[in-house]
Amino acid sequence: MSVIKKAIVSQGSGPLNPSYFCVHSTANPGATAANHVTYWSRNPTIPMAHLVSDWTEAYHTVPYDRLVAHVGNGNSLCEGLEICEATNETDFQRGIQIAAQVVRERLAARGWDTGRLICHDEACRMWGGTDHTDPIPYFTKWGYSWDQFKQLVQGGTDMAITTDEAKQIAAEVWSYQYDPNQPNMYNAVQYEMGGKIWGYDYKKSAPGGNVYNTLVYETQGQLKELKTMVTAQTAAIEALSKSMGADPQQIAKAVQDAVKAKLDALEITVTATDGD
Ligand SMILES: [Zn+2]
Repeated sequence: MSVIKKAIVSQGSGPLNPSYFCVHSTANPGATAANHVTYWSRNPTIPMAHLVSDWTEAYHTVPYDRLVAHVGNGNSLCEGLEICEATNETDFQRGIQIAAQVVRERLAARGWDTGRLICHDEACRMWGGTDHTDPIPYFTKWGYSWDQFKQLVQGGTDMAITTDEAKQIAAEVWSYQYDPNQPNMYNAVQYEMGGKIWGYDYKKSAPGGNVYNTLVYETQGQLKELKTMVTAQTAAIEALSKSMGADPQQIAKAVQDAVKAKLDALEITVTATDGD
């Protein structure tokens, strides 16, 4: 379901066939999307974008094929979204999620990927006619980056972890504590996996046993099958050579030796996948 509500406030100032989607932020902290819809509808000739979003909703304000002034010399190249600027962390995060959803929808509607996604700061440097750097200062204020936003749009992770958090996670994974009541992540994984692979319980029937047990059982089974096959082939060759008048002992021995040499040369590689 689309997150975008329709609230057309202007028909713009001419046709538009854009090549990029440009993201802005309003530089008007606390003002909502609805506030902007109202403001733009009363002043339909002022700079505005095709869409405006805040921390609860998003509006489509100008038809997507109509020109509006939002990126200086890049106006005729861009469809645009204004992200309303939140005044607290929670609203910022919510607003980012909604904006990313809006951008995702619009890129999909155009058949574009994030290669077509730019921000006003980039548009300013590419084409000029404007000196705005939004939404970079707004993102920076909340410890967020333009790259993170692009990744979020792309459907990538929106886990914005800091370097300190990453270090802490790494420490938790690798620090080695033997205390089984307080296992760290590394320990817990090793314990779990080690238990499954190496815990050797003969009381369990082999097929239902641990990974190691099951592998041994299956490998032994396969070797048994091979041995049976070789014996059968030897018998067949013996019978055949008898019927042809050759010395069956000699031929069988030769074949057995040849097969044994082949088997000795085989490297048996066993790959285990844990079914849990
Ligand atoms: Zn802008």
